[in-house]
Amino acid sequence: MNERKVATKLAGQNTTDGAGVRLKRFIGTNEISFLDPFLLLDEFKNDDPKAYMAGFPSHPHRGFETVSYMIEGRMRHGDSRGNKGLLTAGSAQWMTAAKGIIHSEMPEMENGMLWGYQLWVNLPADLKMSEPKYQDIPPEKIPEFETDDFKVRLIAGSFEGKPGAAETNTPVIYFDIIFKGEGIFEHTFPSDFNALVVGVTGDAEIAGEKITAGDIAVFAEGDGVRISGKEGSRLLLIAAQPIGEPVARYGPFVMNTKEEIYQAFADYEAGKLA
Ligand code: FE
Repeated sequence: MNERKVATKLAGQNTTDGAGVRLKRFIGTNEISFLDPFLLLDEFKNDDPKAYMAGFPSHPHRGFETVSYMIEGRMRHGDSRGNKGLLTAGSAQWMTAAKGIIHSEMPEMENGMLWGYQLWVNLPADLKMSEPKYQDIPPEKIPEFETDDFKVRLIAGSFEGKPGAAETNTPVIYFDIIFKGEGIFEHTFPSDFNALVVGVTGDAEIAGEKITAGDIAVFAEGDGVRISGKEGSRLLLIAAQPIGEPVARYGPFVMNTKEEIYQAFADYEAGKLA
């Protein structure tokens, strides 16, 4: 295997979003504004309710998908079409906003840790105005693959022939890799996929580079990835086939042209996203 090296390694950037939720941003920053098809990747991890209870009240999305993955805590989801859901620890939600939704994402934790990730995945032009769709995936519906050294939770994409939980619109890999002891995780996927890891806990090593919790490492091209970990090492491996289309984005709208962004605002104001 021509092992992928680390092209860029950075610490996540502290910021706030929603109604003042403190988070760490990995994609959607000045350094990594876009890694086709990934538009944004945030970690919210806080044990102080003041830093998260205000949540993400009612806001629109159009033109892409949001993928939420919870490590600890609970998040209540609701949208303007009457869809509802409760994301519990270990669950995932793959929301295809497509032509538009207006939703809220509110923490239910009054005490203790709220810890999760949100990834934005772009949609190709021909799916941007398709019908919105939800995949609410409870913890027990996320397939796991276990060896003596690690456990992999398969949110999306196949590992060793075992398919992941979510149906994706374009090829996407989303694995939660939890090392149980010293070991090496390897996975091969097409060399044109953009790929990254985020350190969740502990530290791990990729091609001689140390990846610590709170880091993002973007991979260079290659046949596959090799990650050395030990007890306590936990990482998200996220990779996808690039879409390769022009991106026009403004806040919660991600389209192909500026005109389509203006249209999204006009449609939102006219109540057409609800
Ligand atoms: Fe949202």
